Amino acid sequence: MIVEQVWTANAYRNFNYLIACPETGEAMAIDPLDHAKCLALAKAKGWEITQVLNTHEHGDHTGGNKAVIAATGAKLLAHANAKDSIPGIDQGLGAGDVIKVGSTVELECLDTPGHTMSHVCLLSRSDTPALFCGDTLFNAGAGNCHNGGHPAELYHTFATQLAALPGATLIYPGHDYITNYLEFTLDREPDNAAAKSLLAEVGDQDPDNALVSTLGLEKEINAFFRLHSPTVIARLREAFPDLPDEVDPKTVFVKLRELRNSW
Ligand SMILES: [Zn+2]
Ligand SMILES: [Zn+2]
Repeated sequence: MIVEQVWTANAYRNFNYLIACPETGEAMAIDPLDHAKCLALAKAKGWEITQVLNTHEHGDHTGGNKAVIAATGAKLLAHANAKDSIPGIDQGLGAGDVIKVGSTVELECLDTPGHTMSHVCLLSRSDTPALFCGDTLFNAGAGNCHNGGHPAELYHTFATQLAALPGATLIYPGHDYITNYLEFTLDREPDNAAAKSLLAEVGDQDPDNALVSTLGLEKEINAFFRLHSPTVIARLREAFPDLPDEVDPKTVFVKLRELRNSW
C-alpha cells in the first residue's frame, strides 16, 4: 500500500489522501477537497483514481468529489447513512465492509459516530496498520461535535474502537491541527513531558512533510486518551467544581470536549 498525504494549505488545514496499489496503479482518493492537487499527483505517479471515499458529509471533505469524478469516472463511497447529505454515492458503507484498491490493498470500514453520525474511518489490512480517521481523531485531538455530532458518541468511538487498535497503527487525520491540540493537551496536563517535547519538535513543521503519529503516541500526548491522568482530572475539577468524587472516563472526555469548544 502506498499512501500520499496531500497538504491543501487551505484555511481549514485539510489533509487529503491518495492510497495506491503498487501492483496495478489503481488509487483511492480520500476526501479530495483539493481536487487539482490530488489529480495532478495521481497523474505524476501514473495512478488511476478509481474510487473516491468521503469520511463524512462536511463540505471540506466532499467539496472535491465532483471534479475528481468528472475527471476519472471514479465511484463514490461514503457511510450508507450519508445518502441524503452526500450526492451521488455509489456504495454505501457500514461497519466491517472491506474496500479493495487494486490487487493488494484492503481497507476495513469502521463506523465511527461522534463528529457526525455518519462518519467512517478506514483501517488498512497491512503489515503496519494505518487508520484514515477524517475528523474523528486528530493528532493530539478529537473532532468537534457542533455540526451533527454528539460528544458521548465520540467518546464511545474512542473508547471501544480507536483505543483497541494496535499501538503501531499509523494515524492519518483529516486536518493538520497538531500544534493547537498539543497546546490544549498541555493546558489540561501541564506535566505531560511527551506532549511538551513533541510540541518542540513539530511546532514549526512543514505540513507538506508532516509527522505521522501512531496510536501509541496519541495515547501519550492526546488529552482525549488521557482520561485517567490525575493531572487531567484535577485540572478538570478546577473548571467544573461540581464533578463527583469518582469521575468516570466518559465524563472526563465530554468535559474536555466542552472545554475545547471555548478554549
Ligand atoms: Zn467534519
Ligand atoms: Zn473537516
